[in-house]
Amino acid sequence: MLALHGTGVGAGIAVGRARIINRNSDKISQYTIAQEHVNKEIERLERGIETAQHSLLELGKQFGKEIPDEVRALLEAHSLMLKDPLILQESSRLISEQWVNAEFALNQYGMRLERVFEQIQDPYLSSKSIDVAQVIQRVLGAMTDSQEAIGGQPEGTYDGEIIIVNDLTPADTIELRKHQIIGFVTKLGGPTSHTAILARSMKIPAIVGMHGSVGYLRTGDLLIIDGKRGVILANPDDQALAAYQRRREKIIRRTQALETLRDAESVSLDGQRIMLMSNVELPDEVSYSVKQNAEGVGLYRTEFMFMNREQMPDEEEQLEVYKQVLEKSDCPVTIRTLDLGADKQVDGGRSADHQSTNPALGLRAIRLCLHDLGLFKPQLRAIYRASVFGKARMMVPMISNVEELNQLFKLIDEVKQELAEQKCPFDSTLQVGGMIEVPAAAIAADIFARKLDFLSIGTNDLIQYTLAIDRIDDEVNYLYDPIHPSILRLVKNVIDAGFDAGVPVSMCGEMAGDPAYTRILLALGLREFSMDPARLLEVKQIIRMSDVSQLKMALPKFMNATEPEELRQQLVELNQ
Ligand code: PEP
Ligand code: MG
Repeated sequence: MLALHGTGVGAGIAVGRARIINRNSDKISQYTIAQEHVNKEIERLERGIETAQHSLLELGKQFGKEIPDEVRALLEAHSLMLKDPLILQESSRLISEQWVNAEFALNQYGMRLERVFEQIQDPYLSSKSIDVAQVIQRVLGAMTDSQEAIGGQPEGTYDGEIIIVNDLTPADTIELRKHQIIGFVTKLGGPTSHTAILARSMKIPAIVGMHGSVGYLRTGDLLIIDGKRGVILANPDDQALAAYQRRREKIIRRTQALETLRDAESVSLDGQRIMLMSNVELPDEVSYSVKQNAEGVGLYRTEFMFMNREQMPDEEEQLEVYKQVLEKSDCPVTIRTLDLGADKQVDGGRSADHQSTNPALGLRAIRLCLHDLGLFKPQLRAIYRASVFGKARMMVPMISNVEELNQLFKLIDEVKQELAEQKCPFDSTLQVGGMIEVPAAAIAADIFARKLDFLSIGTNDLIQYTLAIDRIDDEVNYLYDPIHPSILRLVKNVIDAGFDAGVPVSMCGEMAGDPAYTRILLALGLREFSMDPARLLEVKQIIRMSDVSQLKMALPKFMNATEPEELRQQLVELNQ
């Protein structure tokens, strides 16, 4: 039995056979072909490119409207890359000069092109090397049986299997929806990657960021993957298998039992009403949020619409998407303005001439928006125009000083005036809130609370900035600690500041959706939670079993604890 560790994503445990989707370019075999076969080999390459193009087109057609716009844009971009005559020309040259097989020639060309992209200083352009690799991989998959590619197998082939793959593209993820896979493991990617988002939306467990250790896995291995703990057991012994099967059945029973809470009120034992909202990344996730009876969307991350595409969505396209999202929900939807930059590097048609040495501390979120009004103003206009189609609220990420708010309000006034002059209807009373995710804003929360209609605590970034740990660097993941005394004090300060100013405070960072922290957050005074909708019922269950006034009495002891062990013990006691 072999135990491997990565980053767990998505709930639950899966037990099944591994299927390696071979994407390792080192494994492409090289062989010499006879000189008279050169033309045939080039024709084979041509057919491979055509088949790959065709499969991309079919994919787009097959899933029609189900494909999110950003994924459709990516399919189109890949299809365009395949039309580049250089792919055929350069690979054919290698075939005819060196008499090598087409797969090897194509792969050599692909690697050269990838290196060219990787060496570009601009992070957006440099990231395009991944698209090159994916496009080459698709052609290789179309050409050879030994180089299996997702979608290269007949439908149903992966049913009941756990897919092991270097990385998944959004195009791959659409194809995977055709197969009843029960889990997946990737070499690359962090918990905030597209891959992780997919695992959550498919409600299957996954382990991402396995790095070199995926190399230990073989097709046909029996695997247990534990999405909660980030553990893979390969070829487990009977004892481990039985233990995990029992845990898995327990999780399934618990999930079924939780379903009965869907219509139950979110209220504590002592009658405190707690608002439960959801976080969504893509517009089609709103339906699931509604199904889970969320009392609204506490965070709609609009930047996902700007990803995987060459041109940024214009005002009209954004308006259409926001309108759809608002119309799907009877409850308030909090549209967060663009949080681009740092780990969410997308260009959306802009050209970056400056490379930040420390992107998380650079021109990101509201800073980037205020710096680039060509990007920001169409979004503000679209949000205001969409506001008449439902219950909208607008939220601004990463505010760190009042000057940013002053600039924002000035811009909002401009937008409102323009829209009024253009006779475009909009909700002039649209609430404007801010995310408190920078320590400066958390410390001075009283100042921000006086200026904004609501606050929302973003613990993902608040923890990153307070504890000085890069949230996407798995090497410092061990320092990520939501109950570090500094975090508890900051969270309390924000909640208290909101209370004093009469302004609602919610939390939309991952901490809000982790049942381990529900009670400490209730004790700190949090009354509005926003999370991945899949976690809503579990958190609701804890709320219904908690006495908030008693939790509050336990708070001073918690806040006075200084030793990490003491804090962990306090958390255990609070959760009993
Ligand atoms: C956060 O930082 O907690 C948050 C919710 O925003 P994001 O994860 O999108 O940065
Ligand atoms: Mg954030």
